[in-house]
Amino acid sequence: MTDPFIQFCRASLSEEEASVVEKVIESGWLTTGPNVAGFESEFKEYIGCEHAIALNSCTGGLHCSLSALDIGEGDEVITTPLTFVATGHVIVWTGAKPVLVDIDPNTFNIDPQKIESAITPRTKAIMPVHFAGLPCDMDRILDIAKRHNLAVIEDAAHAVGSEYKNKRVGTFGDSTVFSFYPTKNMTTGEGGMVTTNNAKLAERIRKFAFFGINKEVWERYGKKQSWQYDIILPGYKYNMSDVLAAIGRVQLKRLDAFNARRSEIAEEFKSRLKGLEEHISFPPERADCKHNWHLFPILLDKTSKTRESLIEFLGERQIGSSVHFIPLHLFSYYQDAWGWKPGDFPEVEKVFKNIVSLPIYPGLSSADVDRIIDTLFRFFETTSRD
Ligand SMILES: *Cc1c(COP(=O)(O)O)cnc(C)c1O
Repeated sequence: MTDPFIQFCRASLSEEEASVVEKVIESGWLTTGPNVAGFESEFKEYIGCEHAIALNSCTGGLHCSLSALDIGEGDEVITTPLTFVATGHVIVWTGAKPVLVDIDPNTFNIDPQKIESAITPRTKAIMPVHFAGLPCDMDRILDIAKRHNLAVIEDAAHAVGSEYKNKRVGTFGDSTVFSFYPTKNMTTGEGGMVTTNNAKLAERIRKFAFFGINKEVWERYGKKQSWQYDIILPGYKYNMSDVLAAIGRVQLKRLDAFNARRSEIAEEFKSRLKGLEEHISFPPERADCKHNWHLFPILLDKTSKTRESLIEFLGERQIGSSVHFIPLHLFSYYQDAWGWKPGDFPEVEKVFKNIVSLPIYPGLSSADVDRIIDTLFRFFETTSRD
């Protein structure tokens, strides 16, 4: 008898998400409309910020943030190599140059100590990524940004519900961008949200997200029946659909419970895997932060066993796992276009070599958690494999 497969991740969707989608379909209004407006207002209340703009991806939100800040040709933007390619690509799309700063091995986030030496007269912004859901050291990053007159755009794709010094991520930088991709802590299928406390920037991000049109789409086709509009800049097409916003409103209500369950699983992993501490390291935490446990990456940094052999061992026993992330500077495109090469960012390479993300999501049962833990013990007890 084979064990059922434990997926690496799975979104938690209930009858309620299904029923609100049905209602949106019955209403006949599928694109950006009342559900997007409701989702934005509930999200900004949850975060504790002034403005929230719902989009069809986090990538789009990062792109619009850069454009709204007039970042482009001739400019440089600093980010981390330990991220999804979206963070690097959006910089390239604007015509600006991506500049990488290595991670701090104690947090896996961009090392604030190394940021200043990467700043040039062309630097316009810092894009920190809250890796795995652990917030970056925002006080230090904001201080550097202030002294050098740089914008801060946070890639918070992992960090919905995380807190830095008792404040939710989403209130620190000029703009913060969340992802609702199905693997993230809450989902809309595809989607994202930008938060900011700057009214002018919020307005400009909205324009960039929808063709530069000076009216909301539902004002145009809604009750007012007005066909007139102006185009004030060459904006993109990143607006969120009302179908997805309706799902997001339900997911947002469930988010704290989702994150509480993730945290419970993380605590179990930490306490019950203690016996493996001679082989592995646990993911970093900070005493001044609340982690939302988007990921639970372990490091195989004290063993001769490889990360590849662990992934294979887990897979053979019907357990999914993953690697976050292949550092940006190891991809062909980034090496060819920006001249980066292996060895350029040694801290992230050391982490990358040994890192494996274990399954962690609200739908994981206690029996699943038991099986993951037992299998890890069996892996390290096996001496014959490598
Ligand atoms: C998922 C992810 C993104 C992209 O989010 P989308 O909503 O899919 O555009 C960006 N950055 C990081 C770090 C991510 O993990």
